[in-house]
Amino acid sequence: MLDIKKVRTDFPILKETVNGKPLVYFDNAATSQKPQIVIDSIVDYYSKYNANIHRGVHTLSQLATDAFEQSRIKLQKHFNAKHSFEIIFTAGTTQGINMVATSFTPFLNKGDEIIVSAMEHHSNIVPWQMLCERTGAVLKVIPMNEKGELLINEYDKLLTNKTKLVFVNHVSNALGTINPIKYIIDKAHLFNAAVLIDGAQSSPHIKPDLQALDVDFYVASAHKLCGPTGIGILYGKQKWLQKLPPYQGGGEMIKEVTFEHTSYADLPYKFEAGTPNISGAIAFGVAIDYLNELGFDNIAAYEKELLNYATKELLKIEGLRIYGTSKQKTSVISFNIANIHPYDIGTIIDKLGIEVRTGHHCAQPIMDFYKIPGTVRASFAFYNTFEEIDLLVSALQRAKAMLT
Ligand SMILES: *Cc1c(COP(=O)(O)O)cnc(C)c1O
Repeated sequence: MLDIKKVRTDFPILKETVNGKPLVYFDNAATSQKPQIVIDSIVDYYSKYNANIHRGVHTLSQLATDAFEQSRIKLQKHFNAKHSFEIIFTAGTTQGINMVATSFTPFLNKGDEIIVSAMEHHSNIVPWQMLCERTGAVLKVIPMNEKGELLINEYDKLLTNKTKLVFVNHVSNALGTINPIKYIIDKAHLFNAAVLIDGAQSSPHIKPDLQALDVDFYVASAHKLCGPTGIGILYGKQKWLQKLPPYQGGGEMIKEVTFEHTSYADLPYKFEAGTPNISGAIAFGVAIDYLNELGFDNIAAYEKELLNYATKELLKIEGLRIYGTSKQKTSVISFNIANIHPYDIGTIIDKLGIEVRTGHHCAQPIMDFYKIPGTVRASFAFYNTFEEIDLLVSALQRAKAMLT
């Protein structure tokens, strides 16, 4: 069990006030808050051993390189990749997806098919559309039902020998739905299609076992996992990372350069051109250690309680409708109250210190599906409390009274 009172003292921001009210942070699906040890690790790097990595024989460069590579190993262990060189440091989920989409260009032909789901983040739609434009491949979409669950029978029907790639998020950031990724991966492999799982929204709640999943690619962002912004990972199976051409050219990713020919560095450096976000990578490792110390099972169990309590209490508000009602979901609640615009609700409750997301949550196709302009989204993390949910409910009652 988590000691929430103690956990909250790890996060300095939770002592802040917003508009004169104690901060209630319910926008964890957009980015998580950072514990002091993660913040300290960044200060430590810059104040004690800042140097470029993989380039110098000098002591500082060695220290920085060691810390950077140690972090890669922590991430390899956490996600259970077979090799540490299968973990590529990226700027985040969006960049990881773009790397795969760009590097796949030579392997797709006109008429090949790519499958995505109806509940993807824009970052998992647009790069594939761009890949289709470059190659003449066709994008197919797995539809969903009113509860916000994928119609898996339809997925079965979409798979053919033309299918080359399948891309699905593990958890939808707008609805919280947990998708049946093991089934999706195994089915795709029957057709020799490669699968990329977007773990940006699931990785803060569910520790995946990449080898057991047998997934080809997996992406995540540190900033949703209590780490800093501007750093994330792309996991790729060795056979794919060896096959795909590099995404960017530059320093660090080469073995030998002449004006006639360049040979690429071994993995993972082939995909890590230029000076990376060194402090970010180190802090990402610290964040993963922190979360593992709390325990992902403990985190998920507590967040489930928060989700159940919040769902029950919010539904007491007359006219409130929740979008995304799958039994399998993480602690995200997207909702509207009657016909009130989500933006108006968000603005009023912000005055009461409550930070929620409003809008389409980078998932416009989902909003089109429900024929709404957007939702209010409250997303909970393990440092949130039941008392904060009570504050949200009473703030919403006030907002509703003002707006109707
Ligand atoms: C947040 C998120 C992304 C984008 O992540 P960035 O860190 O902004 O690159 C992609 N997919 C899902 C499901 C997300 O929740």
